Amino acid sequence: MPVVNHETKIHGLKSVAPGKTRMAESKPTANEKARARRLLKKLEGMYPDAHCALNHRNAFELLVATILSAQCTDETVNKATPALFKAYPTPEKMARAKVADLETLVKTCGFYRNKAKNIHATAVMIVEDFGGDVPRTMDELLSLPGVARKTANVVLGNAFNINEGVVVDTHVGRLSVRLGLTEADPKNAVAIERDLMALLPREAWTQWSHLLIWHGRAVCKARKPACDACGLRRSCPRVDVED
Ligand code: SF4
Repeated sequence: MPVVNHETKIHGLKSVAPGKTRMAESKPTANEKARARRLLKKLEGMYPDAHCALNHRNAFELLVATILSAQCTDETVNKATPALFKAYPTPEKMARAKVADLETLVKTCGFYRNKAKNIHATAVMIVEDFGGDVPRTMDELLSLPGVARKTANVVLGNAFNINEGVVVDTHVGRLSVRLGLTEADPKNAVAIERDLMALLPREAWTQWSHLLIWHGRAVCKARKPACDACGLRRSCPRVDVED
């Protein structure tokens, strides 16, 4: 549980004593929801072009790219996937590939043996169990090798426009804590996702992640957040940010 580094009272956010849980046990208040919506609007104005940074042309490519992106940057994945998708553009073709050939193509992405095995097994399962189409439900996606909730949320939200949950990566976790939207540990993606889903309108869940990821990369960086230049500074309690 992160320690709230200062007593704070800002528009729409209750005063929070250091170390006290704000929302873990209770539903967010109308004021807290209104504040989250204001942050959403502000971020939408700051990043009107925020979108999924993994290059893809269809749900299958996005699924594979997201599996490859675990513990690796989107840029690295985007460099590897053009050759991969050129050689194996469909689940059927990837299912017939040799895992060793897939390993060669995804080697730069880290944990490449495991990732190659998973994208191959996923392609096989899509062909054998789902008629060649990437499934569109959380439970079905979670049955695929190498697919956890975050990957399933990415695919559902970005390939199918289904807001089933909120993608919580390292940026979303860090910024949600700093902005005072959750008191969960920044690494506890499940708890953070639960808090964000309670706060934000469902139709904004997918875009919210893009906005926080863009803001985390551009301004609210892990080590040195540029608070003086931040468009959210007037409404940010800067939880756990050292001065
Ligand atoms: S004010 Fe600082 S901590 Fe808050 S969102 Fe902006 S950069 Fe991040």
